[in-house]
Amino acid sequence: GRPVCECYNCYTGIDCSQISPTCAADADSGDPIFLEPFWMQHATNSAILISGWHRMSYRYEDNPFMSTELENYIRKMHSVVGNAITEGRYIVFGIGSSQLLSASVYALSSQNSSSPPTNVLASIPFYPMYRGQTVFFNSESFQFEGDTNAWRLNNSTNDMDVVEFVTSPNNPDGELKKPVLGGKTIYDHAYFWPHFTPIPAPSDHDLMVFTLSKLTGHAGARFGWAVIKDKDVYERVSKYIEVADLGISKDTQSRVLKLLKVAVEGDGKPLFEFAYNKMRDRWDRLTSVFSKSTRFSIQHRHPLHCNFFNQTRLPSPAYAWVKCEREEEEDCTAVLQAGNIIGRNGNVFGAKDRYIRLSLIKSQDDFELLMQRLTELVSLENGSI
Ligand code: PMP
Repeated sequence: GRPVCECYNCYTGIDCSQISPTCAADADSGDPIFLEPFWMQHATNSAILISGWHRMSYRYEDNPFMSTELENYIRKMHSVVGNAITEGRYIVFGIGSSQLLSASVYALSSQNSSSPPTNVLASIPFYPMYRGQTVFFNSESFQFEGDTNAWRLNNSTNDMDVVEFVTSPNNPDGELKKPVLGGKTIYDHAYFWPHFTPIPAPSDHDLMVFTLSKLTGHAGARFGWAVIKDKDVYERVSKYIEVADLGISKDTQSRVLKLLKVAVEGDGKPLFEFAYNKMRDRWDRLTSVFSKSTRFSIQHRHPLHCNFFNQTRLPSPAYAWVKCEREEEEDCTAVLQAGNIIGRNGNVFGAKDRYIRLSLIKSQDDFELLMQRLTELVSLENGSI
């Protein structure tokens, strides 16, 4: 007889084309696998091979820890996309943008040991790592003070020894956030790429942090960079990276250089068109399901002019920020879980349990399963199942 094959993961049926009825849609993590098909199309010219004797040194010849060629490609990428001013700015590499977030908090905190710790804040809903790192790297120089709006109500505006995270676009809701307090800022631009948002103008702030993870999708390479105006801040961020790690992996820098060379080909059009079309398709399908629901809603999106695509368009955020609208359904995570959908509870971002974040940047299989489960859940509501 014919060999019996096992179906992959959540699939079943004679030719493995049916989605298994019991399998849950996991939309929890922000793993950017949606870009994998682009890199499959560019498998050969994006590959690197490093010989055993190559890149053994701690250093590069002209710079102790950073590849100048890679730095130039990063500047080129920003000028092609028009999302950040890098002329006359310093750049520092880090192990993912994660490391640069904590290096930035260190760099902007009070250097005076007799003064009270600098207050670190973000606006709810915010990326939980800001709190996580600031608390974990427990220091006499800084402390996490939570939500900017709550803090503003209870504190004098003269007390401006604050470092505010401005996440633009925001994780979880995709908003292009602005500062609330008027003190020092760390602009987290992880999602400030044409895949996720119109690019209205180049960002030109004192300290901006970017990551390869959400640009090319290579989260596993652990590579990010900061763009910094002020020399003293630049030196403090560099010192943090040097003391923590003596700089970042040369193997990673070689790989990132190769990836960015492919990414800037054709002035970035092939990569960004692929990424934006994929995200737009996912949002079209998502909004069509949610338009049939009164039980669940998703964030409103506002059109803006995108200088990169030279058109007015809607954002296509990495995450859907879902709200359970029924009074009694206070725990949205439990409601979705009963519908076989796994997301990240709003309380993780400082918001209410009534909210839940669903990731839209995972693989096509993950997205298809999510659409299937959401469609089932919404049709229950309309009594048509
Ligand atoms: N900032 C934001 C807003 C993020 O969502 C993430 C990752 N999910 C990061 C920073 C960190 O990413 P990485 O360390 O991979 O650069």
